[in-house]
Amino acid sequence: MATSPSIAASCILPGETVYSWCAAVFRSSVSQHSMRTAEELLGRAHAARQPDFPPALARLPFVNKSDLATVINAIRQHTVGGYYWPFHSLEAQRRLAELAARDSDRWRLALCLKPRNSVLPHPLKLCMDCVARDQASEGRAFWHVEHQCPTTFICSLHGVALRMLPRRTKTWQLPAEVGAEATASVVVNTVAVRLAAIGRGILSSPSIDIAALRRESLSRLREQGTIHTTSRTRHDALMAWFAGSPVAELCRSVGRGLEALADGKWLPSLLWRRQTNYPACWALLWAAMEWRSTEDCVAAFCDAANGRLVLAGQLEMFDGPRQVSEAPASVHHAMDECNTYGEAIAQLALPRSALFRWLDNVPELRSRRQERATNDRLEHCVAQLSAVVAASPNIRRHQIELACNSDLRWMRKHVPQLLEQMLRSVPGRAAAQRSIFALQDVVAGDDDGSTRDMA
Ligand SMILES: [Zn+2]
Repeated sequence: MATSPSIAASCILPGETVYSWCAAVFRSSVSQHSMRTAEELLGRAHAARQPDFPPALARLPFVNKSDLATVINAIRQHTVGGYYWPFHSLEAQRRLAELAARDSDRWRLALCLKPRNSVLPHPLKLCMDCVARDQASEGRAFWHVEHQCPTTFICSLHGVALRMLPRRTKTWQLPAEVGAEATASVVVNTVAVRLAAIGRGILSSPSIDIAALRRESLSRLREQGTIHTTSRTRHDALMAWFAGSPVAELCRSVGRGLEALADGKWLPSLLWRRQTNYPACWALLWAAMEWRSTEDCVAAFCDAANGRLVLAGQLEMFDGPRQVSEAPASVHHAMDECNTYGEAIAQLALPRSALFRWLDNVPELRSRRQERATNDRLEHCVAQLSAVVAASPNIRRHQIELACNSDLRWMRKHVPQLLEQMLRSVPGRAAAQRSIFALQDVVAGDDDGSTRDMA
């Protein structure tokens, strides 16, 4: 090995992965054998095959196994483990650091919070713009920790889609060497940008308060009308909402194991069963919810993750049924704006049953809608009647009846006094010769049998 550990140690860059540093050491050495370098640096011949969680972390020259802070720093700042780390309690974090300091490989699986066979792979990802920038500023391109997060597919700095290596690595490789064979991971869109921003938020969180995150997620899902109550919800409707979201579409298009999460079947256990869940699911859920902007989404995620949100009246989540007293603003808005239930359902992107549950639970919604429908119909009837009379000043009542039959019928039922008043004030009706022809009008009206009702 040409590069001494002390020189190499000073060269690990902020945000660079351990794998990247090992690859740089390998490139700068005279060694031609990946396995030998792996053995020397990490004590495991197969270490180059594990770019995400390097084995035997404590052997690295910049880690001092008797100083847990350096072990934690290596995991958080220089491996994708930084994405999983905050989801552990402070006590669990200490145990993980002790495991890693003991040169044990067990910390890697413990960190992922999932059974061994369902851990997502972490394909190597890179941003070509960062490659050029790093080469210019640092003298070499490196693999960024931030890009390796399992739900990150966009470079936050350049706003471009990260390129993903099509196959697992078997040797030490640097981004500049393999960039050409990597392909774009996603199409840049809102949810991809949100996911990348959430990934950054997770990396910078010291510890995530899962209970607060769960509480806040439920509250927001209810606010946007996806679930009805926080305690009694149909899981299939929630799963269908997620499966139809742009986030699920992104999961399907990326593949690499992420497509298994696109059906949203993990949602109930994430939100209600309080099982330990795969951290990536939190990012997916948060990105799928409705937000005004990416900044809002990330700020709310970080606030919830740090337990900073205090939600008035939102705390009784798992105990007993919860009465809903207020519908979300989006439901009120849709009911005020839309002319039909179909339009409201389309606007809210809700199942029909969910909308009607809101209507049943919040009587004000239904009564306001009825009132609005009545006002609209009245306005329409008055306009029709006025238009017909204005168009023919000498029109007779039975002719009005023929022209706007259904409107008159509706007015007779709902606003008989107004109708009477309007017909009485129709201009030109028997104007000058009223006393002579009034009787004739009535007799003529008798003939068709309808005029009498109208008066
Ligand atoms: Zn970049």
